[in-house]
Amino acid sequence: MKIRMNKKLLITVMIILSLSLLSGIAYFQFIGKDKPVVLLYKDFMVQVKEGKVETVYYVDEPKIEGKLANGKEFITDNPRTEGFKETLLMHNVEVEENSANSIVTNIIGLVGFIAVFAGMAIFMSKQSSRQTSMEFNKMSNIEAAPQEEIKVTFASVAGNEEAKESIMDLVDFLRNPEKYAKYGARIPRGVILYGPPGTGKTLLAKALAGEAGVPFYAVSGSDFVQIYAGLGAGRIRSLFKKAREHQKCVIFIDEIDALGKKRDGMNGNDENDRTLNALLTEMSGFNENEGIIIIAATNRLDTLDEALLRPGRFDRQIEVGLPDVNARHKILQLHSNRKPLAPGIDLGRLAHETVYFSGAELESLLNEAAILAAKQDAEQIKHEHIDKAYYTVIAGEEKKDRSMISQDDRRLIAYHEAGHALITKLVAPENRVTKVTIIPSTKGAGGFSMNIAPDKMCRSKKEMLNQIKISLGGRAAEEIILGEDNITTGASNDIEKATATIVAMMKRFGMNQSTGLLNYDVMNNYSNAGIDRVMLDECKKTMDQLYEETKMILQKNVHLLDEIADTLLEKETVNEDILDQIINGSLVDVI
Ligand code: ADP
Ligand code: ZN
Repeated sequence: MKIRMNKKLLITVMIILSLSLLSGIAYFQFIGKDKPVVLLYKDFMVQVKEGKVETVYYVDEPKIEGKLANGKEFITDNPRTEGFKETLLMHNVEVEENSANSIVTNIIGLVGFIAVFAGMAIFMSKQSSRQTSMEFNKMSNIEAAPQEEIKVTFASVAGNEEAKESIMDLVDFLRNPEKYAKYGARIPRGVILYGPPGTGKTLLAKALAGEAGVPFYAVSGSDFVQIYAGLGAGRIRSLFKKAREHQKCVIFIDEIDALGKKRDGMNGNDENDRTLNALLTEMSGFNENEGIIIIAATNRLDTLDEALLRPGRFDRQIEVGLPDVNARHKILQLHSNRKPLAPGIDLGRLAHETVYFSGAELESLLNEAAILAAKQDAEQIKHEHIDKAYYTVIAGEEKKDRSMISQDDRRLIAYHEAGHALITKLVAPENRVTKVTIIPSTKGAGGFSMNIAPDKMCRSKKEMLNQIKISLGGRAAEEIILGEDNITTGASNDIEKATATIVAMMKRFGMNQSTGLLNYDVMNNYSNAGIDRVMLDECKKTMDQLYEETKMILQKNVHLLDEIADTLLEKETVNEDILDQIINGSLVDVI
């Protein structure tokens, strides 16, 4: 056919054209330039430390290149570790990301160039292969990191001792599956790590692969949420096929809940079901002692489909929780390893001030601080950098434009936060008030008073009552200073917290005489006759009483309230030392 001929001709012309273009580009890239020296990564790091590296053109590729101080170009392995860029920056290396100068980028460009032409050729000759090629492209994203690239070991994971131990058991399974086969033992096929985000689930899976010296394949459940029918199932099959070629390996499936949500038959999603079924089939399909371990991670175990949790599938479930104070200390030590901290910085103290921080947040805290220090060309990472970073991590970036906030608002926020801080210091001196600020955050808070209760297993009734008073301190201060008609919505979060505490005290902890030693959730199962009313009255009575007490304490110490608020208006942020100075320098009237 005539048209066919024309098409063929067109393709040939294009290929010839592209080939000549290619050779042109290649000439300029490789012949027209001095060849870069190939540096071993180890030697490269020595050069970095000695200040002999000027620029690194950073791309997310196996190889990176750059320029030495003597003008020579070099090429070396990309470690792809977190903090690599930071290390370079701390050693005064200029880092250019995605630089057009990079050979690697050019190679990608060339490959892309070929791909475009090849793609066009395929498109013209065979429309129907489009889907296949798309699927193929997606599939090739699932790449195994070569063994030597995985440097994560159990030493990179701090805290989480129980989870670590359970995972350590698996190392030997992976190293010597034959040994276990000999005894007829079955290797656990799947392990689910569950816990809040950023607690080190991915890290643990990587450490397992790293310690066992096997490849690590990572995919995310959310990648499988697609529109093309059958694609998800295809990807699962292809993933396992690839994994099997390597025999021993660790497959990591993040966000498994996106893939394996409970199926209730009502609003089922066919496509998800198909993907999940493919995963289940593959999991039961591979030989027991092949040496493939699948680790899945999720934030919530209770939403997962039971089919996933059956024996022979993900039959080990390990909780990875938020770190306690010791673990936080260890994580901080680990991540400050290569960071020049000023001598006065006490990581133990920082660990105390970072209750509820996840490992990822702790890492990010130190990283932000390091970036701030680098930006200012400071010699070391100092308190002020960590302070600022702390704020960024918990409250988001500080709002830069503060001009919109009226003086009245600032005064109100200052008194509100001063109320929280002062009450904390007066009724619960064992708590720490690490920071009081009226700097609004981009997340919407007008300011905050960071109140940290000591880490404890159980809390006493007195502590809970004090906690409520601390929450009420903001509103109480507003009322004392501005009058009852001018109280604001600023206390809504505080009231919510106080209410939750008081309800828990009565309903679950038996801490109120009138409501007695009963669990009211259980009671409600039998009869609800009048319970709600009794509960409401008692909660309200107790809350009113606590509020009056709070107001009284603040009224008696209103000179301190003024002083703290004034300092806040002047300095915006007040730390614990200044707060203590204000309070200790004056007469305190607690009752
Ligand atoms: P998850 O998979 O649980 O969401 P990640 O494993 O991705 O969390 O953790 C993100 C980063 O946080 C890690 O790369 C590491 O830098 C840091 N991190 C988290 N937990 C720990 C820990 N226990 N020890 C050391 N670093 C940690
Ligand atoms: Zn408040």
